[in-house]
Amino acid sequence: MAHQAIPVTPIPALRGAYDNYVWLFPTGEGQVAAVDPGEAGPVLAHLKRENLMLTHILITHHHADHTGGVEEIQRSTGAYTIGSVHDRHRLPVLDRMVDDGDTIQIGPHTMEVMHTPGHTTGHVVYLLEDLLFCGDTLFSYGAGRLFEGTPTQMWKTMKRLRALPDQMRACPAHEYTLTNLTFCADLEPDNREIAELKRWAMGMMDRDEPTLPNLMEKEKRLNPFLRCDEPTMAALVGLEGVSPPDVLAEVRARRNQY
Ligand SMILES: [Zn+2]
Repeated sequence: MAHQAIPVTPIPALRGAYDNYVWLFPTGEGQVAAVDPGEAGPVLAHLKRENLMLTHILITHHHADHTGGVEEIQRSTGAYTIGSVHDRHRLPVLDRMVDDGDTIQIGPHTMEVMHTPGHTTGHVVYLLEDLLFCGDTLFSYGAGRLFEGTPTQMWKTMKRLRALPDQMRACPAHEYTLTNLTFCADLEPDNREIAELKRWAMGMMDRDEPTLPNLMEKEKRLNPFLRCDEPTMAALVGLEGVSPPDVLAEVRARRNQY
């Protein structure tokens, strides 16, 4: 029998405010795990409607739009909660603290943890077969703001993510695709693929459909934050010959205007 890809479900949360997705994936028969539940209501409603039991909560970083629902969901479900050791003083009570290179057994799955400082210093992402739960580190055609980390840290993180297989499916915590592609299209007006993707994302938004997950192959080729060592990217921001972290800082500053 052919190997089946693990299905993922994005649950919209904090709509209109932060446009988060809480990602669910199966951990057993009638059982699921949730990544970054920033709001309890939509997750608990989905579990009830689909008659699912929540076994695990995974947290990528300490921001409230990723953790705001954790305590209520813990009280309601007793789910085993996993988060970054670097964020342990800023997170709800954890059952397991994880760091770079750790593996976690969740139901039938072995997940890997990568520490990805940049957006925050303690941020971690979770890898499960071809799935990448990347929180606010990597967005589709974008990346998180540098609230705590430096451009150098973020560039190092981007290089590690760029080394992941092309067929991985990135599951970021926000629906920012259209805004990111609008920025990318302004940055690279001659890139026809970006223009085409922007039209596609507009259609998805009109139909109220998620644009995610996204393939890493597309991210590596088109996401400006993953391309800061390409001479073309340096030229696009008028910084030929400067270091990739400096290019990243400039791309970030320009994206912050959107
Ligand atoms: Zn965040």
